[in-house]
Amino acid sequence: MTQPLPPYVLGRVTGAEPVTPLMRRITLEADDWCGAVPVAPDQQVKLFFARDGGVPEVPGAPEDGSGVAGWYARYLAVPEDVRPWMRSYTVRHLDPDEGVMVIDFVLHGGGHGAAGDPGGGHGPASHWAESAGLGDVVGVLGPAIATYRTPSGEPVRLLVGDETALPAIGAIVEQLPAGTRAVVVAEVAGPAEEQVWGSEAEQELHWVHRGTGLSLPEAVRTLALPDEPVFAWVAGEASDVRAVRRHLVGERGLAKQSVSFTGYWRRDMTQDDAPTEQDMADAAEQMAAAGQG
Ligand SMILES: Cc1cc2nc3c(=O)[nH]c(=O)nc-3n(C[C@H](O)[C@H](O)[C@H](O)COP(=O)(O)OP(=O)(O)OC[C@H]3O[C@@H](n4cnc5c(N)ncnc54)[C@H](O)[C@@H]3O)c2cc1C
Repeated sequence: MTQPLPPYVLGRVTGAEPVTPLMRRITLEADDWCGAVPVAPDQQVKLFFARDGGVPEVPGAPEDGSGVAGWYARYLAVPEDVRPWMRSYTVRHLDPDEGVMVIDFVLHGGGHGAAGDPGGGHGPASHWAESAGLGDVVGVLGPAIATYRTPSGEPVRLLVGDETALPAIGAIVEQLPAGTRAVVVAEVAGPAEEQVWGSEAEQELHWVHRGTGLSLPEAVRTLALPDEPVFAWVAGEASDVRAVRRHLVGERGLAKQSVSFTGYWRRDMTQDDAPTEQDMADAAEQMAAAGQG
C-alpha cells in the first residue's frame, strides 16, 4: 500500500530555552501547518537542516502517486553536497490553530553548561539546536508516524528510554488518565537531566545515571514490576532498546504486541547511514506486533 506523503512546511524559530543543561526546547512557528493534526504522544516528524545554514530545499510531492517511497527516492537523488540533512524528532507539543510546534533536542555534543559529553560528538541536528536563534528555519515533514498505542486492559505503562525518548515519555505520562500507573526507567547523564511531569496517573520514576555502573537494560532487569498487566514502550539507543525488548518478551513473558520498541539512534552511526540487517528485522517485528495489537 502506498503511504501518502505528510505535509511539508518551513518552521521558523520563535523561541529557545533550556529544559535541562543537555536538552534545548525549540519553538517553531509556520503560517500554515497544512492541516497537521496531533497523532499520538510519541508522534514524530522528519526535520531538514540546510547544509549552508539557510533555508532547506527538498523535492516536492511526487505527482505519480508514489507517496513517501517515491518522494524519498527523489530526496536521495539530490546531490549529497546540497541535500539537506534529514533527522527524526518527537513533537513535544503541537497546536495547529496557533501555528506552533515544540521540539526538545538532546545536545549530544555537550551542550551549554554540560557536565560532560555523553558520547558520539555533535551531529548536524544537535549542532543546529545548540545554536538555533530567532528566525532560523528548519524544514518539517509530518507529523506522521507514532508507535504508542493506547492499550486496553493494561493499567501499567512501562516507559523505558534515554534522553532522546524523554519528549515522548513526558507526553505519554502527561496524557495518562487517573487509575493508570506509569513506571518510567530512564537513562540520563546525571541528576541535572532528570525531568518532572504533571499527570493524573500515578508515577514511579527510576533514573539511571550514565557512567555509574548500571546500564539501562540492567536497570530494567532488576526492576520489580507490579503484578498487573503491563504495556511497555521502549525507545533510545538501538542496542539497548533491543536488549530491553528481548528481556521483556523472553524473560518477563510480556506478549510481543504489549511491547512497542524503536531504536532512536545508533552508536557510531549517523541517521544518514543505511539501516543494518538488525534494524530491518526490528522494524519488521515492530510492524508484525502492531498488526496483532
Ligand atoms: C522516531 C524518533 C524520534 C526521536 N525523537 C527525538 C527527540 O525528540 N529529541 C532528540 O533529541 N532526539 C530524538 N531522536 C533521536 C535523534 O533523531 C538522533 O539522536 C539523531 O541521530 C540526532 O541527529 P544528529 O544530526 O544530531 O546526529 P547524527 O549525525 O545522526 O549522528 C552523529 C553522531 O552522534 C551520535 N549520536 C546521535 N544521537 C546521539 C545521542 N542522543 N547521544 C549520543 N550520541 C548520539 C551518533 O552515534 C553519531 O556517532 C528521535 C529519533 C527517532 C527515530
